[in-house]
Amino acid sequence: MKTLSIIGSTGSIGRNCLHVIEEFPHDFRVAGLAAGRNTALLAEQIEQFRPQVVSLADGAAAEALSQRLQCIPSIRRPRIVTGVDGLTEVATHPEAELVVSAIVGIHGLVPTFAAIDCGKAIALANKEIMVVAGELLTATAKRNQVDILPVDSEHNAIHQCLRAGKRDEVRQVILTASGGPFRSFSPAMMKDVTPAMALNHPTWNMGRRITIDSATMMNKGFEVLEAKWLFDLPVDKISVLIHPQSTVHSMVEYRDGSIIAQMGVTDMRHPIQYALTYPERVASARACLDFRAVQKLEFMQPDLNQFPCLELAYQAARKLGAQPCALNAADEVAVEHFLSGSIQFLFIPEIVRRMLDISQSQSNFSTVPELLQYDRAVRKETRRLIERDYL
Ligand code: MG
Repeated sequence: MKTLSIIGSTGSIGRNCLHVIEEFPHDFRVAGLAAGRNTALLAEQIEQFRPQVVSLADGAAAEALSQRLQCIPSIRRPRIVTGVDGLTEVATHPEAELVVSAIVGIHGLVPTFAAIDCGKAIALANKEIMVVAGELLTATAKRNQVDILPVDSEHNAIHQCLRAGKRDEVRQVILTASGGPFRSFSPAMMKDVTPAMALNHPTWNMGRRITIDSATMMNKGFEVLEAKWLFDLPVDKISVLIHPQSTVHSMVEYRDGSIIAQMGVTDMRHPIQYALTYPERVASARACLDFRAVQKLEFMQPDLNQFPCLELAYQAARKLGAQPCALNAADEVAVEHFLSGSIQFLFIPEIVRRMLDISQSQSNFSTVPELLQYDRAVRKETRRLIERDYL
């Protein structure tokens, strides 16, 4: 029996994680859950999984949850906490051995670091924190002898493929990308992309920001950074291939020319289960890939002119310093503006490029507060730039 806490339990990864736990009721127990404001779903999760502590965004959400729980007389009421301290309390619950870090965005930094400092294993679904704080995060995990198990399907695949050889035998890792809905669009067609078109991802069903980041391929750029830190690889050993079927989740090429690929259906419960049960593999009743139904597997080089965000991420991954933090912050602000209909799709890479150009700071962050301060400054500056030149 493994006890875990989930930060981000009402999001897409959090819900899938609880589906996996539901399938293995004798293997897992939930100590804590953290959500934002979705008190209706959190109340259901409390009723089913009986955590000892739950966290919400703020006092108003906590009050709303309290009232909901009063309507369920049979429930064992958990302790209700809020804000960053609340997230941290859930992430560091004494009984939790593994923490699923699935909260979206940079808010996941503080609780994830706190969990690592307490020696908890991490199932990492929040890629932003590896993008902006990868060096600090992996060093802290190493010092505390803590495993960071990737939930992101590509990195989960690489984690599995790396079990086939030694690290110094790796020639390169190949991240696969679906290419998003605009894989075959010309630059002229990209100009008229609307939020509704960009939110319609061909193979994966995910949150709003990551779906837009998949359409620009910034998501794949973030994954290059994520792979660099997770697997301690130089950027030139990480390549990206478009693979529209999303059947091969990623590959590792060894120096003897052997390539190990991890394949499966596009269902996040697979990588989640792998991270939750690692180092064991546990029998699953879910549907697996039927090769007889696979019509074709295509692979192609991404066009960096069509997807400038991927190139920007590679540049940030080579320069490091403050660049990855600026990359993430500027992109998130630009994506918010695109989703609200105030800027065009093609302005996302342009805005990110301009923010990277003015963020030439070579500073390395040695603490989380320093990083968060820089992140806030970049967001503020990006909003100013958008208001001045794009609205
Ligand atoms: Mg991914």
